[in-house]
Amino acid sequence: MADLVDAAMKLEAVVKKYLEEDKILKFVISKMEPLFRKIYDGQVPPQRMFEQVRDAYEDTFERYDDLEEAFDMLVDAYDEAHLQQIRDSVGGQFVEHVQQKWKERTCPICGAKEWTVPNCLFELREFSGGKLVIGGGMSVYSVVPVICEPCGYSVFFSATRAGLVKASIEWPRLPPA
Ligand SMILES: [Zn+2]
Repeated sequence: MADLVDAAMKLEAVVKKYLEEDKILKFVISKMEPLFRKIYDGQVPPQRMFEQVRDAYEDTFERYDDLEEAFDMLVDAYDEAHLQQIRDSVGGQFVEHVQQKWKERTCPICGAKEWTVPNCLFELREFSGGKLVIGGGMSVYSVVPVICEPCGYSVFFSATRAGLVKASIEWPRLPPA
């Protein structure tokens, strides 16, 4: 979080450096205001706020090397803070979700009742014929495993259903039996 605040301050300083000579930067800084405010308040802003700024001002950023670099650094710091926020929510929000939905937590393999929850999400990627494909409209299913301590049997919960990440795709529902 400290890194994110530092990166925001750095970007603000670089924008201010060119403010006199470049009028467009006045709009850039006014558009980034809500983003900066959230960061200085100690929050992790939603991803779309970065995307909106980038889409609108990409050409402007590219005109100044240090401005582009400072914006990229802010995005990197954001990604790190966002990931940490998700990891933290696995420990709190996710555990609560599992406790609420899964009352009888008995392992179907060994009968034990001791389960482990890792402090991160995992991704199941759509099969791509053996090639490793990043992006390109491939489906990614985010899951959190709950692992039986004695035997290792793992139950996978959808990270979306637990409210940790937003789903970007809709799948058809199986008709009722
Ligand atoms: Zn077990």
